[in-house]
Amino acid sequence: MTIRTVFECRCCGECCHGKGGIYIHPRDAAGPARLLGLTVEAFIDEYTEPQYGLLSLKTDPEGYCLMLERRRGTCRIHEDKPRMCRDWPFFHGPLNDRDVYEEAKAACPGLVPEATWEEFVEYHRVHVGRRPPSDYFDIHQQEEPDSGD
Ligand code: SF4
Ligand code: SF4
Repeated sequence: MTIRTVFECRCCGECCHGKGGIYIHPRDAAGPARLLGLTVEAFIDEYTEPQYGLLSLKTDPEGYCLMLERRRGTCRIHEDKPRMCRDWPFFHGPLNDRDVYEEAKAACPGLVPEATWEEFVEYHRVHVGRRPPSDYFDIHQQEEPDSGD
């Protein structure tokens, strides 16, 4: 049985809008720093701010993530973007609650309007597989600090 494509990002950048919503653990800063040609310290200093013991990506005055190329709607650190950015739209909420899925569809033009919740869940099972956490903040908080060994 062919499974309908349920998601194709339209690069509108809307999910990259909102202050303080994207968390990364300091240990995950090396990838984005490398992609930007910065040291880890410079990346953390320039593009993140401490929040609840983690780092959140800074936003511009209009509230868009500083990693967003506004003109093209693309992410400057796409190859190593935070896990929550990589997982979208296959989040715990839409995968487990039909109403949340419909809300996500209304907010994200990349979610195919004709696709049903059942198709969305099945697409995730077959093509993505990885189970999303129920809380990204929690999983980052639970990560052990790098021992440096
Ligand atoms: S809101 Fe949806 S379509 Fe727009 S950039 Fe985000 S994932 Fe892509
Ligand atoms: S890191 Fe990239 S994908 Fe994530 S919110 Fe920022 S611009 Fe969007």
